[in-house]
Amino acid sequence: MSHSTSHRTPFDIARRALWYVGKFHTPPSPNVYKVWYRYVEGIVTVVANLDYAVHDAKAVSVEKLEEIHQQYCVDPDGANDETSDHLAKQLASLQSAIATQLVAGTQFRADLDEACEPLKDESPTNSTVVSCAHKILASNGAMQQRVQILSEQLEASEAEVRALQEEIAESRKTLTTDTLTGLGNRRHFDLDIHRALSLAGAEAFYSFLLLIDLDHFKQVNDTFGHKCGDEVIRYVATHLTELCPDAPISRLGGDEFAIILFTDNHQKATRVASNIRQSFASTPLKLSAGSVELGNVELSIGGARLRSDDDAKTWFIRADKLLYQAKKAGRNSVVLED
Ligand code: GH3
Ligand code: MG
Repeated sequence: MSHSTSHRTPFDIARRALWYVGKFHTPPSPNVYKVWYRYVEGIVTVVANLDYAVHDAKAVSVEKLEEIHQQYCVDPDGANDETSDHLAKQLASLQSAIATQLVAGTQFRADLDEACEPLKDESPTNSTVVSCAHKILASNGAMQQRVQILSEQLEASEAEVRALQEEIAESRKTLTTDTLTGLGNRRHFDLDIHRALSLAGAEAFYSFLLLIDLDHFKQVNDTFGHKCGDEVIRYVATHLTELCPDAPISRLGGDEFAIILFTDNHQKATRVASNIRQSFASTPLKLSAGSVELGNVELSIGGARLRSDDDAKTWFIRADKLLYQAKKAGRNSVVLED
């Protein structure tokens, strides 16, 4: 990798980052510069998502850099700052409307008490009763107006809060989606892994992690071009989703995918993994654009069962080693630990 570790001081990194800005004609806006800086620094998620474009496709668009910036260079909790501020303001204004209404309610009760006070006389006169009735009607009219205003405020706030919640959900989705395939990205995968770890902690349920890597995928790019390569990656994503509709599937970058199988049964996990391998190996792929015959997509799978003393890293490393073994065993194969 040419973003080598020799660029160690911040000045070196900055110089190299600017060099990339020039090489790929990407304007040095703060976001673009930050992504290049992180790339040179060697931040794994940024490198994994950019290396292919830098070294293989040899083209990097501003859109790609903006996407990487949004997905991997902003703090996910800070990403929604503006929306969260807006939400907090809405909630504060709701609270103040409700507080005003509570004060008005107390005042209304006091007004009624005061208006009714003369009626406590043994024999109130007609004019006393009429005067009471007028006061009560006036208080009631004022109260009704207040209730009307509050209910309009509540309705407007409710719509606004709903819109803001949708905005937050949408932006979370963008942050965790791989744009090429629509699958989860690396960030999504980290969340899935932590969910599986929580499940193990809470219910002693130990899932399987399958790591899947296409065999000799570089040849596809070299023979048919990068666009075809992209189409193959999309096909793999779709077919994996068909084969494992209920499991969280992510694209970790390049031609590598991860599936978390919610089973702790070795036989069952082996069956699923073998079925994936077999299904791809026996389905000749023909690309939609033109009628390019690609042959079969072969892939290798490594699978590790979560252990009680695992953390995200140790679990991943074991699965990765098994994937490596599957490659070493000749590819187009599955290695799952017992
Ligand atoms: P192996 O059997 O050892 O896995 O060989 P391989 O050729 O598949 O090698 P490897 O998995 O290491 O390389 C994956 C290649 O995927 C490298 C890069 O050229 C290509 N690649 C990475 N990202 C993309 C992408 O977004 N689109 C396309 N078309 N190719 C990509
Ligand atoms: Mg590969």
